[in-house]
Amino acid sequence: MTHPIQPPASHFVDGDWLEDTAGDPLPVIDPATGAEIARLHLATPAVVDKALAAAARAQRDWSALPGRERGRVLTRAAALMRERNRALSELETRDTGKPLQETLVADAASGADALEYFGGMAGTLTGEHIPLGENWAYTIREPLGVCVGIGAWNYPIQIASWKAAPALACGNSMVFKPSETTPLSALQLAAILAEAGAPPGLFNVIQGAGEVGARLITDHRVAKVSLTGSVPTGRTVAATAAEGMKHVTMELGGKSPLLIFEDADLEDAVGGAILGNFYSSGQICTNGTRVFVQRPLLEPFLTRLTERLARAVIGDPMDEATNFGPMASEAQLRIVEGYIAKGLEEGARLVIGGRRLGRPGFFLEPTVFADVTDDMTIAREEIFGPVMAVLAFDTEEEALSRANATPFGLAAGVFTRDIARAHRVAARLEAGSCYVNSYNDAPVEAPFGGAKLSGVGRENGRAAIEHYSQLKTVYVRMGPVEAPF
Ligand code: NDP
Repeated sequence: MTHPIQPPASHFVDGDWLEDTAGDPLPVIDPATGAEIARLHLATPAVVDKALAAAARAQRDWSALPGRERGRVLTRAAALMRERNRALSELETRDTGKPLQETLVADAASGADALEYFGGMAGTLTGEHIPLGENWAYTIREPLGVCVGIGAWNYPIQIASWKAAPALACGNSMVFKPSETTPLSALQLAAILAEAGAPPGLFNVIQGAGEVGARLITDHRVAKVSLTGSVPTGRTVAATAAEGMKHVTMELGGKSPLLIFEDADLEDAVGGAILGNFYSSGQICTNGTRVFVQRPLLEPFLTRLTERLARAVIGDPMDEATNFGPMASEAQLRIVEGYIAKGLEEGARLVIGGRRLGRPGFFLEPTVFADVTDDMTIAREEIFGPVMAVLAFDTEEEALSRANATPFGLAAGVFTRDIARAHRVAARLEAGSCYVNSYNDAPVEAPFGGAKLSGVGRENGRAAIEHYSQLKTVYVRMGPVEAPF
């Protein structure tokens, strides 16, 4: 079988491509066609060990460099990523099924932003001086050591870059394991970092499923684990990391509320709900999948939403006119179909969509349910697909208490023209990110992460530095030591 986008090897370790065909085969499927487009191998224990040994070695020298020099490598990598944005976007589209229209602006581009931002920050990472009368103390901001990154399949190169950039800026090294479903683009990030001057072993990518992830997390050489994935995986990974008292960042799932008040701009609110439910075919952790609409606006909202959804261009994601692509995998398609069946069974009203398209690939129509109640499965569980649940509400107080009645706390949104209400509601929503008259912004300058079961720690912004470094305090006595005997 010929594979159109076969990378030079399955792994990128110690500055070079690495193959070990003893690992189980990993077929890479194009979600738009169902065809196999590459075939890799899962990492064997020997590959895992080689990656960790290389990362440990590289980290020692890397952390000794002035921050500015580390930053220069990252900003060079950012420039290379921008130069190659089209090729990287095409690769990401083939691997994830997301429309090229999206990947051209949201994936490698966002990865480059992270490399540039943290590259710029690398030279500014200092401690502080603490005067103690005639004595004093100072702090040194130190790297943690070898970090492990584990990615989900929805934003592969973005997730890899969002983890690599702050980790490397702080003087750490990293072994990154992409999701088995989308293993290709993180390899390109590794090659780009090497080309930009990262020393061999600084950023390694190895393929594997949960078993490889578990092997990485339990290794004594690893100081930190950053996972982007589901809550159940997060629980397992955090518990395993806790055995070795390793640092963790957990970017997990959500079931985020989007509150639309009757005074909202209808067109903007519909636009926000579309962005927050159907971009990337709904496979976005922060999606506002519980759309609470104040009763007087409910029918106008559903009418306008239906009109605009009818304009979705569903088709070949490589065509730049397409704005709605397939699900990333057949397995995910089946999970989402199961939730749609559950919605119907539990009495929700199907407004639009709900069916798989009669063409090759894993295409599912954008789907909207109305008359959803808080106890329905589709209002409680993360679906991770193009399924919007619309719920009616009467008062602000009621909407807030229902919006917060979830174990998740990743994101939330509010659409209103009342500025006081916007900030009052944002203050009370239990979520790591709140959007006012907007949805799903994720600029690298702003901290990103979850509350409640949706996660621990923050990526992006200055906040990320706290999660990839630790402080050493040095106490200095200027006078004689007064011992009791
Ligand atoms: P999973 O939790 O299934 O997997 C995430 C990653 O963890 C994969 O690389 C997976 O490997 C790996 N993994 C699975 N089990 C283990 C284990 N025991 N030890 C170590 N690693 C393991 O998530 P999905 O890939 O299905 O991604 C979707 C989920 O990710 C959704 O819940 C979504 O909300 C969340 N997400 C969160 C984001 C955030 O920033 N908060 C952003 C994007 C997605 P493999 O799959 O190869 O077996």
